Amino acid sequence: MLAKTISNISPFTLLDYPHKSACILWYAGCNMRCLYCYNPEIVLGKGTIAFTNVIAFLKTRIGLLDAVVFSGGECLIHKTILEHIEIVKEMGFLVKIDTNGSSPKVLKKLLDANLIDYVALDFKALPDKFETITKSNLFSDFEASFELLKSSKIAYEIRTTYHSELCTNDDLIEMQNYLEKNGYLGNFYVQNYINGSETLSPLPNSMSLKIEELNTLKQPQVIIR
Ligand code: SF4
Repeated sequence: MLAKTISNISPFTLLDYPHKSACILWYAGCNMRCLYCYNPEIVLGKGTIAFTNVIAFLKTRIGLLDAVVFSGGECLIHKTILEHIEIVKEMGFLVKIDTNGSSPKVLKKLLDANLIDYVALDFKALPDKFETITKSNLFSDFEASFELLKSSKIAYEIRTTYHSELCTNDDLIEMQNYLEKNGYLGNFYVQNYINGSETLSPLPNSMSLKIEELNTLKQPQVIIR
């Protein structure tokens, strides 16, 4: 609990956990290097906040916030994450995990122990583009995480960042097909890349995806954020 694993705390959000008020813990470090990553300082930097300080902050939020979002970076790569989540759960908060899906073993432990209430799982790409976009070979781990969530009882969502130079409409339709084939019944959230952002890799501007360009009759439904 002494290591400083957290880069920052967003003290209040109504946007990150569906229908709940929450704060966000931004864990430093990541095992991917997505070209479009908006958080280079979190991914490449070191944590500066000890968890004891997080506990002190959360004590002042009991009864005021519904939930704590564990984000990053990739929060599940940290050795202390189970302990952290256990403490936050014991304090009475709902727990949401934002993950790139690369740590199915940790996810399984959390699910088995009923320590999480909601997961946002990044679907970076299918195998043909996964390595190019994430600079990692972790697609099979993503698949294992997806399987775990499908067979769990907790609520989760699948989300993708869209950049027109990295992903075509056909790629998105293939991803939609993959989700449908694998029995995903939720929404497929697609977030347009925000031009002008500082990212891990310099990227040209992206052309915004238009919902009418996708086959909206297909399932799961694509929701553009
Ligand atoms: S966008 Fe990619 S590199 Fe950035 S935090 Fe998420 S998984 Fe890591």
